[in-house]
Amino acid sequence: MRNSRRLLLSIHDVSPRFSAPVETLAGILAEEVGAGRFAMLVVPDFWNEAPLLADRAFVARLRSWAALGVEMFVHGWCHRDESRHRGAIARVKARHMTAGEGEFLGLSREEAMERMRRGRDVVEQAIGRPVAGFIAPAWLYGPGAIEAAGALGFDLAEDHMKVWSPARSRVLARGPVVTWASRTPMRAASSIAFAALARRTLGPMATVRIALHPGDVSDPRLIESARRTIRRLARGRAIARYRDLIDAGGENPRHL
Ligand SMILES: [Zn+2]
Repeated sequence: MRNSRRLLLSIHDVSPRFSAPVETLAGILAEEVGAGRFAMLVVPDFWNEAPLLADRAFVARLRSWAALGVEMFVHGWCHRDESRHRGAIARVKARHMTAGEGEFLGLSREEAMERMRRGRDVVEQAIGRPVAGFIAPAWLYGPGAIEAAGALGFDLAEDHMKVWSPARSRVLARGPVVTWASRTPMRAASSIAFAALARRTLGPMATVRIALHPGDVSDPRLIESARRTIRRLARGRAIARYRDLIDAGGENPRHL
């Protein structure tokens, strides 16, 4: 098969709260790979302070991106971890590894299903078409969230290390996501170093993913690193959609 190697691109935390940086990131990706050839992870009500459907101008933008072919994922409900984690290790993990953004880490199956269903309704109402799948904030899923995504029949989900189909109980691709961190100068520097390493070492992988966040636009060095990484990893690869991984399902099917 020609060009069976793929590059998948996404913008996280798409919310009226970040409308300006999301617009900037969408423009950058359009320049680099073409309009509509990426995914957006949409947060229905970021921190319970930015209800998607209340911002009609932003909803109109989302619709136009969806019409261009942007794949729209539900990205949690409020994005914030509101669970009370039992046990010191779980608490430390929730607070320090995710800055409190692992909304789906500590949820029961029932609570996860309720938020996923509500989130899907809001995003589908906004874009006027079905969502592509569900991706948990900070890529963190507890056992309840994994079960809930399967029970609701989402076609696609991903974490740091893989893309899978909850509906089909099948892993579709493996390999790390290249992403950047803007929260502290030290994290920014290490994410730039990781991206440089990824440019050199991820070449042989069949599927490579790159994820951008609104905070990335605050630091021109991060954007420069992201552009270089996209250009390098796009060489010899198709700019793909997540859905293509399902359509290519026979290539190397693996069970969860
Ligand atoms: Zn996020």
